[in-house]
Amino acid sequence: MKPIYAFEDADSKNRMLLGGKGAGLSEMTRMKLPVSPGFTITTEVCNKYYENKERLPKNLMVEVSKNISKIEKKTGKKWNSNTNPLLVSVRSGAAKSMPGMMDTILNLGLNDQTVIGLTKKTNNPRFAWDSYRRFIQLFGKVVFGVKDTKFNNVLKAAKKKQGTEDDSELDVDSLKHIVTKYKKICKNHTKRKFPTRPNEQLQLAIEAVFKSWMGERAVLYREKNKISKDIANGTAVNVQTMVFGNMGNDSATGVVFTRNETDGTNEISGDYLTNAQGEDVVAGARTGKDISKLRNEMPKSYDELRKACKKLETHFREVQDIEFTIEQGKFYLLQTRTAKMTAFAWCKTSVDFVKEKFVSKDKALARIPAEQLEELLHPIIDKKEVKKFKSLTKGINAAPGAANGIAVFDVKRAVAMSDANPKLKIILVRDETKPEDVPAFFPSKGILTSEGGKSSHAALVARSMGKPCVVGCSELKVDYERKKCVANGTTVREGESITIDGSSGNVFVGEVPTIKPKIPIEWPILLSWAQKVKRLGIRANADTPDDAKRARKYGAEGIGLCRTERMFNAADRQRTFVEMIMAEDVGKLKEKLETEENKFERKQLESKINLEERKRRKVLEKLGRLMKNDFAQILKAMEGYKVTIRLLDPPLHEFLPSSEKLRHMKPKKRKEFRQRVNELKEVNPMMGHRGVRLGITYPDIYETQIRAVFDATAKLVRKKINAKPQIMIPQVGSIEELNHIKSIYDNVKSDMEKKYKIKFKINFGTMLEVVRACLTSNELAKTAEFFSFGTNDLTQAVFSFSREDAESKFLEEYKKKEILETSPFQSIDESGVGDLMDIGISRGRKIKSDLEIGICGEHGGDPDSIKFCHTADISYVSASPYRIPVAIIAAAQAAISKK
Ligand code: PEP
Ligand code: MG
Repeated sequence: MKPIYAFEDADSKNRMLLGGKGAGLSEMTRMKLPVSPGFTITTEVCNKYYENKERLPKNLMVEVSKNISKIEKKTGKKWNSNTNPLLVSVRSGAAKSMPGMMDTILNLGLNDQTVIGLTKKTNNPRFAWDSYRRFIQLFGKVVFGVKDTKFNNVLKAAKKKQGTEDDSELDVDSLKHIVTKYKKICKNHTKRKFPTRPNEQLQLAIEAVFKSWMGERAVLYREKNKISKDIANGTAVNVQTMVFGNMGNDSATGVVFTRNETDGTNEISGDYLTNAQGEDVVAGARTGKDISKLRNEMPKSYDELRKACKKLETHFREVQDIEFTIEQGKFYLLQTRTAKMTAFAWCKTSVDFVKEKFVSKDKALARIPAEQLEELLHPIIDKKEVKKFKSLTKGINAAPGAANGIAVFDVKRAVAMSDANPKLKIILVRDETKPEDVPAFFPSKGILTSEGGKSSHAALVARSMGKPCVVGCSELKVDYERKKCVANGTTVREGESITIDGSSGNVFVGEVPTIKPKIPIEWPILLSWAQKVKRLGIRANADTPDDAKRARKYGAEGIGLCRTERMFNAADRQRTFVEMIMAEDVGKLKEKLETEENKFERKQLESKINLEERKRRKVLEKLGRLMKNDFAQILKAMEGYKVTIRLLDPPLHEFLPSSEKLRHMKPKKRKEFRQRVNELKEVNPMMGHRGVRLGITYPDIYETQIRAVFDATAKLVRKKINAKPQIMIPQVGSIEELNHIKSIYDNVKSDMEKKYKIKFKINFGTMLEVVRACLTSNELAKTAEFFSFGTNDLTQAVFSFSREDAESKFLEEYKKKEILETSPFQSIDESGVGDLMDIGISRGRKIKSDLEIGICGEHGGDPDSIKFCHTADISYVSASPYRIPVAIIAAAQAAISKK
């Protein structure tokens, strides 16, 4: 194992070993670009350090010294010199970039001697002493863990004493005084003298960078961004000769993108600061100037920068994000990496790259981070404005897009406030949400919860509705009583503005401006390329006509799941649905009638049955009409494409008021509701009275739904609209269940054909979401004309995990303890759930070789799961309308990767 590579000697392809930064520096050195000399300590050393109980390997510092000597030769500078001292930066860098998560130390090598050397060399004592005080502060913070506030207090006092407000105006005497004080702070903290020998400083700095790999911030970042060991295993340490952007007005430092990272236009974008060090830019202490200004300010350097951008982009065939420094007119590159861009910019640059004959169409599709394309359909935070706003907290980015509005903590109040003023922008803030809170989702622009993970109720519902959502803000304390929430010492009361960014998890105080989404003009071009290569069909999970239209606009080829229960979520519809549930179950009354002998009692019962039946029929007819209209609009929006309509699935009690709401009801109504709630109560609702089991016990509900599908279809057929509905039954576990519902379907069909004199072709199929359904799919295939995997329920069943409980109680810990790498509710668990799916597919297709088999669980929009579906010979994936671009590109990428 070679522990250290000089930039010019390293194999720059080996990012796992060198980290992204090290690989980039070595590649740029090989390309003869202006990079100051340095070396990389490999990620293997980092792993050794941890294996060794956090001790550096024995000979490491000997090797480091040899490499420092090499730098001395190249630069002519000397380590620990009082005439021309060599100073270095010590930076972290893992295979996957983790911006701001690990530590960096600048100006290392300074002490009371070398600061004199630096003064002599630069003829600039102010610069030398300013560098020294910056070094002690950064070193003290990173290596010794001294709080920044201690240093800042000294700085503040010195400024006050000198009568200035600006750091850059501090004179040499003040800076010398600060250095003495800073050293004292460190000494008090560590109970030893501040280290003066550069070798010792360097050793401590290397150890600190390795330590930061396991720092809380970094561990959390890896967890949230799914950075597993095979993606990045440890950090490398880059030790590089310091170059200074703060050596006067002929010096500068900046960050640029080789193309505009927001809209993808082919021009350099970014900003820079004259006479500043990199950390001033990162810390946002000073506002940068637009890079175009550098052309006039330092034309020679600007030209070098432009050429370097072109050279690097051409070399890597990818947009680059570049850090540079100009030291007294001399241009240096500090870093290059693949740029992080908006989804919009990814689309534009992919199409441009092909036009410029830069990459092939396949490469252009493959380079897009599919997952990010969900952004295309949501408003995003205006990056230019965000700096002006205070951060409130950060949680888990559960549903993308940004939303601003007033905080409201109560479900009823959110609905009432929006009824009174429909233009009101509301952010619903809760500890967690439950099904009965869904009416408040409709008027809310976004959802924020202090608890829960990516599969919590709030996250799932918000995602399916396309509303931004941030969950799991553990620092956020919600106080329902006082109508306020508090995080990090800041209080937000009802009616005060907040902004949530569901793409990053950030929450801000105030209304951060957002940018409205628009379809990039390049999208249809990408879509046509993707359609040519992908095998998988792409359908949408859409429950409303608006969702259906949105999905079509982006290229959905049908609807794979229309959850009919979602049609009753809006507050007014929910009332009708509840009326239906409350209409007394006449089955029991009829049983009673059979045994009742008293004539008078019989009469009474008969008239009650009559009344209840009429009442129930009336509500069902009303629901039928509502559904017919919705179905007709959805089918019309999807003209020519299949629309899979799933009959009612959730248990009825989910629609009844919570005990909290019951408490606020009038006594008579409360009694009625309480009785029904008690009747419908279940021990384990997930495995209880739901799906096909409801259809068997309440056949009139399924019959009403089936009729509504036929009615809607007839309406469209008459208008010569090519409607292609299919009816799907949830939770089926046996052929007997399926056949039972099939006979209801057959009866309705024959009725309808007589009524409308139309020969309907409405396919009848089943979901595969119960383990037994997968195992007996050969039997189900005899009746079913199509299958669709409900991987949400199937995952629950295979793991015996209840999704909600798993997310809120133990999944995070499972991931932390590496028992599970990712949540199986996010990405298909290939070895368990995937295997069962393979069985379901092969047994079903033995009976009908061309059986259409889709997938409509959350996984249908997840790129890794889509890859699995491509290989498993699934016919199509169905994803939320907002994830259609993700699914299309991921399906194309799956096909390209198998070429
Ligand atoms: C599923 O179980 O995967 C599914 C799509 O059904 P739901 O999420 O509505 O239970
Ligand atoms: Mg299901």
